Amino acid sequence: MNEDICTVCGGETHEAEDSSMQHENRRYRFCSDEHKEEFERSPGRFV
Ligand SMILES: [Zn+2]
Repeated sequence: MNEDICTVCGGETHEAEDSSMQHENRRYRFCSDEHKEEFERSPGRFV
């Protein structure tokens, strides 16, 4: 399963940076901490 795209912008993520989180039993990945924070502020926009 290839889900290595940023939940916020759809760009590629980089495993080494480990910008991912669990939300409601799903794992979301992000291209940057900035986008991770954006998701955390309003997950409803992206789910
Ligand atoms: Zn992004």
